[in-house]
Amino acid sequence: MRVVIKIELNKRQEQILQIVKENGPITGENIADRLNLTRATLRPDLAILTMAGFLDARPRVGYFYSGRSGTQLLTDSLNHIFVKDYQSIPVVVNESISVYDAIVMMFLEDVGTLFVVDKQSVLVGVLSRKDLLRASIGKQELSSIPVNVIMTRMPNITMCTKEDLMIDVAKKLIDKQIDSLPVVKETEKGYEVIGRITKTNITKAFVALADEKF
Ligand code: ADP
Repeated sequence: MRVVIKIELNKRQEQILQIVKENGPITGENIADRLNLTRATLRPDLAILTMAGFLDARPRVGYFYSGRSGTQLLTDSLNHIFVKDYQSIPVVVNESISVYDAIVMMFLEDVGTLFVVDKQSVLVGVLSRKDLLRASIGKQELSSIPVNVIMTRMPNITMCTKEDLMIDVAKKLIDKQIDSLPVVKETEKGYEVIGRITKTNITKAFVALADEKF
C-alpha cells in the first residue's frame, strides 16, 4: 500500500513555487516584485511553503526549491517517529501463574496481550486473548494450568527497541499478523520488557502525522 498525503496549495503559493523553481535562490522582496505584491502580503504563503518543506530559506541568500515531493516529505516525517515517543506501559506476568489468573489480569489491566517473564524478569513468552480463549475450550481446570504451557515462547517472539521507527514496528505487526510487540532492552540475562507497542499506539502516531504533531 502506498500512502500519499496531498498538500493543497493555493494559486498564489503555486506561483511562488514556480518562481523559486526557476529563479532560486531568490529573496522574498524579489518574489513580491514579480507578483506585484508587497513582502508583507507574501509572508504567510512563504511561511507555509517553508514549513511544509517545499522551500528552504537561508538568511541573506533567499528562498530555494527543496526539490522534495509530498511523498518524500511524508517519508521524511515517518523517519522521525520513534517507538520511545509512543510506547505504553507493558503488562507483565510471571510464567508460573495460572491461565485463570492471566485471564483475570487481562481484564483488570484492560490489555489484549500479556508478556510473560521468568523469576529474573527476563521475557520468556507472550499471551494473547485467543491463546487464553483456546486454553479455555474444553474441560481443563484453568487454575491448575500454568501459562508457560500455552504461551508463544522465545525465541519466536517478535520484539522491538525504543530506538526503532514506528513504521518498522507497524510493518512487523502486519507481517506477523499480531496485535502487539514488547519493547525490550537487552541485558546479560536476556531481554527485559520496558514497554509495549500495540495497534492503538500505531493509530495514535498515524493521527499525529496528519496533525503534524510529531
Ligand atoms: P489474538 O490471538 O488475540 O488475535 P494476536 O494476533 O496478537 O492476538 O496473537 C496471535 C498469536 O501470535 C498468539 O498465539 C500470540 O501468542 C502470538 N503473538 C502475539 N504477539 C506476539 C509477538 N510479539 N511475538 C510472537 N508471537 C506473538
